[in-house]
Amino acid sequence: MKCVLVTLVVLVLGSCNREIHVGPQSSQAGLRTTFFDVGQADAALLKTPEATVVIDTGHNGQTAQLLRQEGVTHIDLLILSHAHADHIGGLAAIAKRFPIAELWYAGRYRGRAGAIVRTIPGAVPVTAGKVKTLGRLTLEVLHPEAEDGPERNAPTDVNDGSVVVKAIYGESRFLYPGDCELGCWEQVFRAHRSELRADVLKAAHHGSSNGTSSGVLINVRPQEVIISCGRNNEYGGRVKSRV
Ligand SMILES: [Zn+2]
Repeated sequence: MKCVLVTLVVLVLGSCNREIHVGPQSSQAGLRTTFFDVGQADAALLKTPEATVVIDTGHNGQTAQLLRQEGVTHIDLLILSHAHADHIGGLAAIAKRFPIAELWYAGRYRGRAGAIVRTIPGAVPVTAGKVKTLGRLTLEVLHPEAEDGPERNAPTDVNDGSVVVKAIYGESRFLYPGDCELGCWEQVFRAHRSELRADVLKAAHHGSSNGTSSGVLINVRPQEVIISCGRNNEYGGRVKSRV
């Protein structure tokens, strides 16, 4: 545990910068990883010469603007971790502005978000084991498990139905667990403990204590942790309600 804490760098979005670029990029030329400051929400970009991958869309249309500023003209793969507004609120604006070749999701998408998902020909529900390689970049789904069914999730466990994705580029590894909470992590530990090691961890559930336990840090052993949260958010160290 001690060595984890000594080497850990925690970067918190939502206080000053509009975006953070992280990762051992000096040794992995060509990869640019971006976490956008979208307040109490999530939106991230992985860009290589061969691929543009977006993970979650933030609250609103601001994310589409930020993607444009990063030079994004199309999206090879859009991954929606789960159907909460702070992760899919920007979907409409992004779908309007950028062609999306493929979209991964899990759980039930209703209303406007569901209608948008259905208009994207490359939209597919995913479960653990789904893999896609785009040039040197590989994306691998670690959760939810297939036996849970990609559309099983009831409204009460949407966070625990989060798509957990690992991105691999050369020797670099990045873990995006959406809002994975304790039940979700239990499943991930059971099925994928040996695959969790990553250089960069996007803290699950905006840095709340049930999203990033010491067990998560011990198994992932990240060098950098990104916490995407709003200024003076209500959580502190404890989660009082679901977002
Ligand atoms: Zn969230």
